[in-house]
Amino acid sequence: MRILVTGAAGFLGSHLADRLLDDGHEVVGLDNFITGSHANIDALEKRARFSFIEHDISKPRTFDGPLDGIFHFASPASPVDYLEIPIQTLKVGSLGTHNCLGIARAKGARLLLASTSEVYGDPQVHPQPESYWGHVNPVGPRGCYDEAKRFAEAMTMAYHRHHGVDTRIVRIFNTYGPRMRPGDGRVVSNFVVQGLRGDPLTVYGDGSQTRSFCYVSDEVDGIVRLFHSGEHDPVNVGNPTEFTIRELAEIVVEETGGRSEIVERPLPTDDPKVRQPDITRARELLGWEPEVSLKEGLRKTIPWFREQVERAGARARTLD
Ligand code: UDP
Repeated sequence: MRILVTGAAGFLGSHLADRLLDDGHEVVGLDNFITGSHANIDALEKRARFSFIEHDISKPRTFDGPLDGIFHFASPASPVDYLEIPIQTLKVGSLGTHNCLGIARAKGARLLLASTSEVYGDPQVHPQPESYWGHVNPVGPRGCYDEAKRFAEAMTMAYHRHHGVDTRIVRIFNTYGPRMRPGDGRVVSNFVVQGLRGDPLTVYGDGSQTRSFCYVSDEVDGIVRLFHSGEHDPVNVGNPTEFTIRELAEIVVEETGGRSEIVERPLPTDDPKVRQPDITRARELLGWEPEVSLKEGLRKTIPWFREQVERAGARARTLD
């Protein structure tokens, strides 16, 4: 298949492009580098059957040649980024999704939308099944991401129902692994970089809030399975093993050499108190479940961050 991956310079987009190339497809990557990295595209360009377009998918563009599939992965994905670039975040989720759906319709291509557990907001149902409609503050600081993705899901379903476009929607839960930016600002990259430098780990709030962390190869495998399935309704893809943020901090301190202390910082506005995917649908429809435990995943991830810290003096990016 000839497949377009928007956000190919990003963490998930670049791993996904690698997997699609491994599977024998031709991949066209697209990115505007607003949060993506040139190094990811440089590595992909060394591979056969990969080509790249530098473009902001929030702006319309035509696409040359045949196209069988689109993975729409372009978006800032770190709460620190939403605070700095809220309008771009809203535009890529809304206008960018609309533009991708237009290309999919024109080309007769299948489209898979990267949606998010953030559509559930600060959830009142735990764990979260796809049937839960969510609890989102539209006007809070995270609203730009949450509402853009909720709009993107609505637009995707409208193109499916109204224009017959062949669509998929994956709701991605917290994912980590090599190629996350050291200064991404999300919790795993911050804690690992802080641990490797011997800096204090910054737990926001008292650390009793929970998240469930999926290693990137598991996440990509679930996404590719969904693409090849016939399922149009949203599917959660994430690791259901839940940790408090304090537990994560303790594990990361242990895995990065034990030098760091743990400190508390103010809890960001609207920070969800709990998050855990119900993956019954992914198990039943895709025959998928994650295989990599948090400790194994961290051991695969830490060497990559160590190189960034030792070679480039990388630092974490905290909210204060
Ligand atoms: N967090 C933290 N310290 C950090 C970064 C994040 O304690 O340096 C917390 C954050 O408040 C949230 C959780 O870790 O409760 C996950 O945050 P992240 O930014 O990774 O993503 P989210 O799941 O909130 O979108």
